[in-house]
Amino acid sequence: MKKILISGAAGFLGSHLSDRFIKEGYHVIGMDNLLTGNIQNIEHLFPLKEFEYYHHDITKFVHVPGKLDYILHFASPASPIDYLKMPIQTLKVGALGTHNMLGLAREKNARILVASTSEVYGDPLEHPQSEEYWGNVNPVGPRGVYDEAKRFLEAITMAYHTFHKVDTRIIRIFNTYGPRMRVEDGRVLPAFFSQAIRGEGLTVFGDGSQTRSFCYVDDLVEGIYRLLLSDYNKPVNVGNPDECTIFQFAQEIIDLVGNPEAYIDYRPLPEDDPKVRQPDITKARNILGWEPKVPRAEGLLRTYEYFKTVVK
Ligand code: NAD
Ligand code: UDP
Repeated sequence: MKKILISGAAGFLGSHLSDRFIKEGYHVIGMDNLLTGNIQNIEHLFPLKEFEYYHHDITKFVHVPGKLDYILHFASPASPIDYLKMPIQTLKVGALGTHNMLGLAREKNARILVASTSEVYGDPLEHPQSEEYWGNVNPVGPRGVYDEAKRFLEAITMAYHTFHKVDTRIIRIFNTYGPRMRVEDGRVLPAFFSQAIRGEGLTVFGDGSQTRSFCYVDDLVEGIYRLLLSDYNKPVNVGNPDECTIFQFAQEIIDLVGNPEAYIDYRPLPEDDPKVRQPDITKARNILGWEPKVPRAEGLLRTYEYFKTVVK
């Protein structure tokens, strides 16, 4: 049985990845310190003998007994309000945490896939963003702690690949959504769903003309699975190219929830908020044979079913 370690397993993406790899017949070690995660996301896996949970801060030395075939390194605050609140932890998990995970991969001779982000492109001057674009990041702005941590993550991963011959994969994930996002994590979808369900104002930042391209979590998980099993070592964008404005996104959620009390409440645009974002997924299509399957209307409906059960 193949053994895989998933850092950040109690988070949104880590918990879906844990489910997927259990389903594929792997033994999964989930590691987390619950900084932004929620143990309820993985509690259903605790009775399984194929699943183990290690409560550990990966910025400290990581030890795992026995063999390890694969590592998925997903631990990191991911929502802007989380990393603004925890700038040092964000930098440490991107730098020290990634170093520890790469060291573990080297020791165990395991293949490692690290979670990077579309934020490495910053406020992009090229649109859509292909992997060849180097980005436009303000290192000393409020988002710099996350963006630069992830740029370091990519740099140290490539260095371990070329210098220590570690078998590495780098995924650049674009905005992903689905069940198990934290209601209060401040990202746009949990914010809008909870506000629409409660009949409050949907806090659209700026004039809502900034764009994002939202990918449903099952599609992303499929892309991660394929990239892990591929033999491609350079960064690959995985996301849904279907771009929309944040105003349009708010309207779609208002229409779906149908609460007559909900309205649009304009708020100031946060500093350095990227104006546009859309993945060029040519590489993912050609190398992984991957493209997203779940249209936004369908993904939003599935996600609404979840938020109905957790929003009070
Ligand atoms: P999340 O906050 O739900 O999950 C992150 C998990 O990492 C949490 O469970 C948290 O407790 C854990 N963690 C943080 N610091 C840790 C530490 N020092 N030691 C151990 N565990 C720690 O976020 P998510 O949306 O699931 O994101 C997961 C990964 O994917 C992150 O690396 C993020 O940068 C990346 N990513 C996510 C998106 C997205 O749209 N969700 C987009 C781009 C990149
Ligand atoms: N946003 C918004 N209202 C909110 C939260 C976010 O208008 O309550 C906007 C935010 O300014 C950004 C977009 O929605 O332009 C996506 O924000 P999110 O924090 O989800 O992720 P980002 O892509 O910025 O990391």
